[in-house]
Amino acid sequence: MSRVYNFSAGPAVLPEEVLKEAADEMLDYRGCGMSVMEMSHRSKMFETIITEAEQDLRDLLAIPDNYRVLFLQGGASLQFSMIPMNLMKNGVADYIITGQWANKAYKEACIYGKANAIASSADKTYSYIPDCSDLPVSEDADYVYICENNTIYGTKYKTLPNTKGKTLVADVSSCFLSEPMDVTRYGLVYGGVQKNIGPAGMVIVIIREDLITEDTLPGTPTMMKYKIHADAKSLYNTPPAYGVYICGKVFKWLKAMGGLEVMQQRNIEKAKILYDFLDASKLFHGTVVKEDRSLMNVPFVTGDAALDAKFVAESKAAGLENLKGHRTVGGMRASIYNAMPIEGVRALVEFMEKFEKENLK
Ligand SMILES: *Cc1c(COP(=O)(O)O)cnc(C)c1O
Repeated sequence: MSRVYNFSAGPAVLPEEVLKEAADEMLDYRGCGMSVMEMSHRSKMFETIITEAEQDLRDLLAIPDNYRVLFLQGGASLQFSMIPMNLMKNGVADYIITGQWANKAYKEACIYGKANAIASSADKTYSYIPDCSDLPVSEDADYVYICENNTIYGTKYKTLPNTKGKTLVADVSSCFLSEPMDVTRYGLVYGGVQKNIGPAGMVIVIIREDLITEDTLPGTPTMMKYKIHADAKSLYNTPPAYGVYICGKVFKWLKAMGGLEVMQQRNIEKAKILYDFLDASKLFHGTVVKEDRSLMNVPFVTGDAALDAKFVAESKAAGLENLKGHRTVGGMRASIYNAMPIEGVRALVEFMEKFEKENLK
C-alpha cells in the first residue's frame, strides 16, 4: 500500500488513523457482528455513535446550549435553498459575493425572495475579501450571508462582516474545524463535511434555537425544514449514518490532537511554508492579496498555462496529487486541510523548488 499526498479541494484527505480504525471495524463494529453501514439507525449502537459525535463537536467548538447541531443530507448545496426557505421571514436577505459558492447561494435565494448582493469581489476575480465594516445592510434583511473560506479562490474572512445587528449566516465548508470559531457570532453556520471532516453528501448545520420555527416559506418540503430535523435529533429519516460515524471519529482525532487551537497553530505553520515559498519564488506566485489568504486552499500560477499543465502532470508523477486548479480558474491549487501532514507541504515545496530550477528561463 502506498498513499499519495492528496491536495484535493474535496472530497479530500482524511486522517490515516481514522481510515485505519474504520477499516478495522468494517466487518464487525465492536463485537456487534456487522458494519456501521449495515446497522439500524434506530439501534442503541448507532444512537451512541450519533450522540457522541454531537457531544464531541460541541466540545471542540464550545457550542452553547441554545444552538442545535443537525447532521443532514444534500451536501452544502442544499443549504443554499434550505436557508432562505426557513429564514426569509421578511422575504429579504443580503449576500456578500466572494466567489462561486457565495454566488450560487445568492442565485438560489433569488428564487425565494429578495436577495441583495451588498458587496462583491468579482471585479478582481475574487482575489480579495471586500471591506465589510460598513455595508448597506438592508433594514428588513432576515440575515446577512457569507462564504467564510472561498475554496476555489483561496480567500478567507479574517474579520466577520458588520451585519448591523442582523443575523449572520455562514458557509464554512472549507474551513470547518481548522481553527476555533465563536459560534455565538452566527445565527446559522454550516459546512459540507467532505472538505475537512468526512465523506461527501453530508452537511453539519449549527443553528440558534430561536431561528428554528414552523414558519417556513409556503411549499417548503418537509425534509427541508430545520424544525423537523431538530425535533427528531437528526433522525427524522435515515441519516447519512456512515458519514456521521466517520465524522465522529474525526472529532475524536481532533480532540486527541489537542483541539482547535492546536489545529490552528499547525495550519498556520503549514500554510506559512507554502506562502513563504510563493512570495520568494521567481516562477510561481499566489493569486490572493496577502491579508485575505486562506490557510486551507492555496491557489498559485506560473503565468504560463502550458507550464502550469506541465507542473500538474509532473507533480502527479511525483506522488503529489490533485494540484490542478479549479476548472473555472486554471493554474494550481493546493488544499492543505487538517489531515494534510506538514511533510506533505514540505514535499510540495521541495518539488516546486526543483521545478523552478528546471523551468526558469
Ligand atoms: C464544496 C463547497 C460547497 C459545495 O458542497 P457540496 O457538498 O458539493 O454541495 C459549498 N460551499 C463551499 C464553500 C464549498 O467548498
